[in-house]
This record gives sequence, structure tokens and C-alpha cells, in this order.
Amino acid sequence: MSSVLRSALFPAALDCIISIDPQGQITEWNRDAEQTLGYARAEALGQFLSDLIVPPADQETHQNVQRFLHTVNDTGQTISPVNQRLRLDARRRDGQTFPCELSVHALHREDGPLFAAYLRDLSDQVQAQAHQAALYAVSGKLAQAVTPAEVVELILREVMPAAQAARGSVGMLLPGGDHLRLLGELNYDAQTRATLANFPLTFDLPACHVIRTGQAVFGSREALHRQFSDLAQKGPQELMAAAALPLQAQGRVFGYLALVYDQPHTFAEADQSFLTAIAEHCALALHRAQLLEDERAARGQLAFLAEAGAVLASSLELQTTLDHLADLVVPRLADWYAVYLPEGEVLYPYGLAHRDAAKVSLLRDYVHQAPVRIDSSSGAAEIYRTGTHLHFPHLSPALLAAQEISPEQQRRVQELGLHSYMAVPMVAHGRTIGVMAYALAETQRSFTAQDLHLALELGRRAGLALDHARLYQQLQESHSTLERRVEVRTHELELQTQELERSNAELEQFAYIASHDLQAPIRAVTSFAGIIAQRYAGQLDDRGQLYLQQIIGSGEHMKRLVDDLLTFSRIHTHQGDQVLVDSQAVFGEVARRLASEDMEGTFDLSATGLPRVRANPQQLDQLLQNLISNGLKYRREGVRPRVQVSAVQGGDFWRFAVSDNGIGIEEQYFGRIFEIFQRLHGRDTFEGTGIGLAVCKKIVERHGGQLWLESVVGEGSSFFFTLPVE
Ligand code: ADP
Repeated sequence: MSSVLRSALFPAALDCIISIDPQGQITEWNRDAEQTLGYARAEALGQFLSDLIVPPADQETHQNVQRFLHTVNDTGQTISPVNQRLRLDARRRDGQTFPCELSVHALHREDGPLFAAYLRDLSDQVQAQAHQAALYAVSGKLAQAVTPAEVVELILREVMPAAQAARGSVGMLLPGGDHLRLLGELNYDAQTRATLANFPLTFDLPACHVIRTGQAVFGSREALHRQFSDLAQKGPQELMAAAALPLQAQGRVFGYLALVYDQPHTFAEADQSFLTAIAEHCALALHRAQLLEDERAARGQLAFLAEAGAVLASSLELQTTLDHLADLVVPRLADWYAVYLPEGEVLYPYGLAHRDAAKVSLLRDYVHQAPVRIDSSSGAAEIYRTGTHLHFPHLSPALLAAQEISPEQQRRVQELGLHSYMAVPMVAHGRTIGVMAYALAETQRSFTAQDLHLALELGRRAGLALDHARLYQQLQESHSTLERRVEVRTHELELQTQELERSNAELEQFAYIASHDLQAPIRAVTSFAGIIAQRYAGQLDDRGQLYLQQIIGSGEHMKRLVDDLLTFSRIHTHQGDQVLVDSQAVFGEVARRLASEDMEGTFDLSATGLPRVRANPQQLDQLLQNLISNGLKYRREGVRPRVQVSAVQGGDFWRFAVSDNGIGIEEQYFGRIFEIFQRLHGRDTFEGTGIGLAVCKKIVERHGGQLWLESVVGEGSSFFFTLPVE
């Protein structure tokens, strides 16, 4: 080759151009060869090419140029590199091997052949292909993942190795936008895992930088430690190089992908774009899975609300409704939960529930230790007063520690677990009637905007259900108060009745004894007065005779009074049996007696077809006797007295009527005449004791019937009484 050509071509060539003599010693070494293989031209010249660039494993097969020119491949075929393009691995000065393409041309000269080797570094090309294949494989797998958890799992298992990272993590921004949560990590030490489980965006870490700026970070250990002050303390140990890449969808950064290398790693441009592409695939898959999850969650929420509606409608009992609510909420919506209802000046906690049943008593201790005054500045009180809500997707330990509660309460909260919190009003008819507080104990979940939405909706439904239950309870209470009052009243009445009955009985007993005992002296008075009248009448003057007659008259009246009183008191003291009685026959007996007393036959008395009734025969006789004799007694002047007795059946009763054509009674006395000793006339007009109708009334009532009258003054009266049909 002419030296002119050589000096023009060699430096400009894009490939390594090396010439060797038939012994394999280097005779030419261009600038590209210097760069690619790491040896300066002066170092290379005169060296055996095979020593210099053939990797140790291939040394034997490349011992000399002869074999170099007639070499045997793995399958035993003889191949010659001359005029062929071969794929080989070559070795750099630093010992690294790299893929290359080699072609050898023989230059025949007088002093023997000279070989020119053209060697092209294929590292970039091979790497690009490998990246392509890895990306293809990774995206294929990611496309199959359905849930966010599956996507994260795949990122750790497939993506990290494809990116040649020894360790790494995936995290996302929490709903509040100020905290990051670890979704998954690969090979992190326990301390890093704990630190990064949940951390504020204010940490000076690559992940935070990525979220804030949307820019990826690549760097060596030194460079990263210099740039991020928290990395040494909070980042993974033994980090030699790392990359942090944004996960974004729809123009919004929602998470990060961190790749950690145990070995020094330089991020060439091709590397960076490969990792960026990988992160984009991960973001896409994660976002898609998240959307699917959201949709599933939305469907789940609808189903939850439907179920809540049914469950809440199933009871009107307050405690049962509260229990149902707790069952609904824990564990599906929250790890622990409480309902606060107003009671006087405080909000009292009800329906406490914890997914870990063993912690319910702890929860009870916690809420009962700190009563919530309605006028206080506590969250629940404020919600109750204003109808607003609270939503803390992430409660950091620092925030909890800053609460003004006793160390004892702090310890309880820690044991209960409090990582995410929300509280919503329970609303009924536009009025806040209580507060529902929800908490998540584990860091795996946070209350999202959807959770809050669901809680608000449940608050409305539960509010109504609770209000109904409360109204129902009040109604029940007022019912039972009423019932109690009626019971008390009934009891009082019973006592009064008993008392009345007792005193009536005593009175009747007294009347009976008195009238019975009075009979003998009265009989003595009247009979001795009669004897005086018979035997000594002649010895008395007119006045004496008159006095004697008055004694006899009064004595007889007193006898009638006592007899009637005795009859009256006997109705109760001598009740007698009720049997089937033919009232027509009883009437016949009464009529016969009356007719025999009235020798002149001065009245008309009639009755036909009177029924058989269940009654005491003597009392029925007395009843008819009294009513009929009154009808005859209270006769009109100049009118022949007429009494008719009849009976008609109406339902369960026979209604008897005893009608006369006598003087009649003014309506105002209709009630009075049935009272004992009540008379409308003096004894000089109509003889009587005022006891007859009182006796009738008693008899009828004893038989379960009623007695009343109709009357027209100057025309006559009708007395009606009922007796039950037999
Ligand atoms: P007595 O007939 O002995 O006075 P009663 O108790 O039988 O007592 O009657 C009470 C009063 O009712 C009588 O005094 C009388 O004024 C009035 N009375 C009763 N029956 C009749 C009647 N058939 N017609 C008019 N007045 C009557």
C-alpha cells in the first residue's frame, strides 16, 4: 500500500485497520484501532495480533496466522477469514471483551503476503439489539398483568434483571401529593425498606427529585451522594450506581422506578434511553392496571352501597343498625372504625369495630379515654357542628407524635395502628346527626378520593337509617310509657272498683241486717197499735183516735220500707241461680196476684208470646211485678189503667217493654227515678217507698241487661229492659 494512501485512509477509517505479516505480527495499527482496542500504535506494532486481541478462551485456536487463516469452527468446518465477514469476540487492553466483525484481505507482495484486517466494534449494535429484545419481552409480559400488584411483581422479577439492576424499587405518590409509598422492592435491606415504606416528598432522594421534576436521574455512587444529601442515610446501602426514572401517564408523574447497581455502571446514552423506555412501559402498564383497579373498585363500591342500603333497611332497632354498620365497614372499608352520636354535651362513641377482634377493647379504651366535647376543636366535633369532613391519606408517625395526647393514648394509637384516616358526617334530612370515623392500620392501603366519596355516601344512608331507628325507638318508648300509664290507671281503677264493691257489699250487708232486724220491732209496733185500736178505741177521744191511726199508718209504711229495703239488699246477698224460665208463665203469675188484690177489676193487663229466658225466676217475677204495678199505680185520673207487656228479639238480646197509659214522667227525671228512695210524688198522692225501680235496675243489671224508659207526660210510659237470649 502506498504510504500516501495509508496516511490518507487509515486515520479517517471508521473501522480498525490492522495489517499483519504472515507470522501474525502487527505491521500497521490505525487510530481507530488505538481507540477501540486501547493500545497505542507504537505499543501494538511488532506484537502478535493473537496475543493482543484474542480473548484468553480463544487463544489456543489462534496460535499462529496459519491457523488464523485456516481455522476450524465449532462444528469442525474449516473456515478461512480471508475475504469473509466473521463475528468474533475481541479483547481490549483493559481485558473487556466485546463483539466485533472481522474481515481479512490478503495483499500479495513480492516479499510474501501481507494481511489487512478490518475490525468493527459491534458493541453498540449488539447492545441495541439486546435492549430491543429485552424491551419487547418486558412489554409483552407487562401487557399480561392485570392488577397493579401483578405489574409491580413483574417489574421486580423481570424488569430489574433486564435492566441489569441488582436491586431496586417502585413507588407511587399518595393521594395527598406529599408522600411517596413503596409499592415493591427487590433486595433492599430491612432498614431501607422501613425508611422508604412511606416517606415525604421533602426527602432529598433521587426518587423525590424524579417526582418533583419529572426528570430521570443517572449516576455513580459519588455523583449521587454529592447531589442527594439524604441518600447516604436513607438510601440502599452498598450502592455503586443508580438510576431513578419517572413513571408518568397522561402528562402526570405518579411514581418512580429506582434501579440500583452493585457494580460501577456507566449510563451511556443508549443505556439511558433503554432505561427510559423501560420505565415508560412500566408506567403504562401500572397506569392501565390502576385504571382497571379503579373501575373494579367503583363497581365494588356500587355493590357495597347497594348491600349497605339493604342491610340498613333491614332493622329499625338502633343498636342493631349500629352493629350492621360496623359489620359492613370493617374490614372492607376500614381496619377500625367508630360512630359518634351526640349525648348531652359530648359525642359518644358507638359501634366500635376493629378487624382484629382482640383490639376492640383497646379501641374502646382509646375512645373512652378522650370524650369529645361538642364545643371542642376536635375533628369529630367540628364535623358534627359544620357537616364538613376530614381526609388524611397518610398520617406520618411524626404527625401522630405531635398530637396533644397522653403517652398512654399514643401507645394505644400505635397498637391500634393508624396510618390513614377519614371522618365524615352522618346526615339525615340535611342535618348532621353523627360522625363516622374510619382508620387504616396498615401502610399497604391509604384512603383514596374514592374511599372518601364512598364514606360520604354511606354517611348519608347510615344517617337516614339511624334517624329512622331513633324515631322508631322514641315511638316505642312513648308507646310503652303510654302503656305503662294505662296499666297504672287500670290498676288504680281495679283497686277503686274492688273498694267500691267491698263498701257496697258492706252496705248491702248492713241494709239487710238492719232491715231484717227492724222487722220484728216494727211488727210489734203495728200489731200492738192494732190491738189498741181494736180493744181500746172507745176509751180514746177523736184526737187520740187520729194519733193512733197515724201510728198505724206510719208503722205500715215503715214495714213496707223495711220489706222493700230487704228485697233490695237480697238481690245481691241472695243471688240465686239463673235457669231457663218461661217469662210468659211468670207474667201470668204476676197478673194473677195483681188481679186478686184488685177485686173490682179496674184495669187491663195483657201480654202474649213472651219468650223463654235464662234468669232467676224470683227476680224476674219481682221485676215484672214492680214495673207492672207502677204502670197501674201511676194512673191518670178518669182513665182506665192499661198495661201491656211485650218482647222482641234484637241480636243477642230480648227487649221487653212494659207500657202503660198513665201520667207519664218528665224527661229530666228519667235518671233519678232509678235511684233508691227517689220519688216524684208525695205519699198523699201515690203511696210508695222509692225503692221499686232501684230493685228493677239491680235485677236487670245482674242478668247482664239494661233498663231504660220512654215517656210522654199525660200519655203514658214504656219501661224497657233487655235480657240475653238463652
Ligand atoms: P215508688 O213507686 O214506690 O214510689 P219506684 O222506685 O217504683 O218507687 O218509682 C219511683 C218513682 O218513679 C215513683 O215515685 C214515680 O214518681 C215514678 N214512676 C215509677 N213508675 C212510673 C210510671 N209507670 N208512671 C209514672 N211515674 C212512675
